[in-house]
Amino acid sequence: MTYASRPTVAEIDLRNLQFNFRTCRSFLGKDIRILAVVKADAYGHGAIECSKVLEKEGADWLGVATPEEAVEIRLSGVFSPILCFGGFWPGQEAMLIQHNITPVIFELSQAAAIDQAAKTVGRRWPVHVKVDTGMGRLGVRWDQASSFAMELGRFENLTIEGLMTHFASADDLSQNDFTELQTSRFHDSLFQFNAAGHSPAFTDLSNSPGAIVKGARGGNMVRLGGVLYGLAEDILPAGINKPELKPVLSLVSEISHLKTMPAGESVGYGRTFVTQRPSTVAAIPIGYNDGYRRVFSDRAKVIIRGNLAPVIGRISMDWTMVDVTNVPDASLGDKVVLIGNEGRGTIRTEDLSRIAQTISYEVTCGISRRVPRLYVRETTKSDAPLMEK
Ligand SMILES: *Cc1c(COP(=O)(O)O)cnc(C)c1O
Repeated sequence: MTYASRPTVAEIDLRNLQFNFRTCRSFLGKDIRILAVVKADAYGHGAIECSKVLEKEGADWLGVATPEEAVEIRLSGVFSPILCFGGFWPGQEAMLIQHNITPVIFELSQAAAIDQAAKTVGRRWPVHVKVDTGMGRLGVRWDQASSFAMELGRFENLTIEGLMTHFASADDLSQNDFTELQTSRFHDSLFQFNAAGHSPAFTDLSNSPGAIVKGARGGNMVRLGGVLYGLAEDILPAGINKPELKPVLSLVSEISHLKTMPAGESVGYGRTFVTQRPSTVAAIPIGYNDGYRRVFSDRAKVIIRGNLAPVIGRISMDWTMVDVTNVPDASLGDKVVLIGNEGRGTIRTEDLSRIAQTISYEVTCGISRRVPRLYVRETTKSDAPLMEK
């Protein structure tokens, strides 16, 4: 038997994910391969469901951060090639091979571990090598690419199937010179790999802003995350030509408690909000444990009956209070939109990330496991929207 549940849910519109994939593909042109990034549970959107849609749409690769994320997707019945950006940790080689996962490597110890594990299954294993061209994070430094490429030559059970780098500031056109510098360092490194006898079939540099600003930049694949989820306002430079994108995630709940309060009374911890007039106040069952962050206190707005209504007082672990005095006929059980649109109101993830002085990715990634994802799929033949958990 299933019980009813708390009404706080993240609605994931898989039709918009599909739409964004298609607009990006046609914007980039069909010669550029697309690796769809589904790490971090698809930026909080649900890695399994999103991977299935992206696989069906023809994504050439899926990308994750860890072997654990890769295996979760593989075991759900996804057959696409999966690239694990963050490498792996000692003892995880067998898991990669068993589940047909391709690791990114940047240390010789990783090459040795995969080489050994590949030998035991009697076949060569593909790896992609990450070159650090200026991100200063993961990757073999570009000025070490030549010696690394030569050392890789001694592993008989490895194929260098891909070479990649990651941009530090492709979203900032004022730093375009640095992105171009990273690009030329990458192409130098590729030359060194070729000279050492490796011929990577996949060469990829661009993330979302890198790709939308300037395509594959001489590589043959791009790695798209944010734009697929419609998170672009704070990721892409303003004023550039870009594909049409639709937000995929909405965050909704319901009014669980309503009360009227006279003027001069306080709401919530710390008494940061005091009613200035007789007020109608609603309690919404969402709090910072759900990822509706405390920094939104007294600053965010929600949509009820198509009207914007302000969050008042401190957001607590499980509850958020909203002033609904100006919402005509606000009632118990009314739908509350915290991210999304309804009537005259629109609240974008980017509006909340601005309040938190962060980027939209951190907001969607931060929506916790306590919030069920509800998937909205393609309309069926009967044209009824099919909602499925
Ligand atoms: C996360 C990530 C991406 C995707 O970046 P977006 O800005 O979301 O497109 C691409 N490449 C690597 C290596 C990443 O870690």
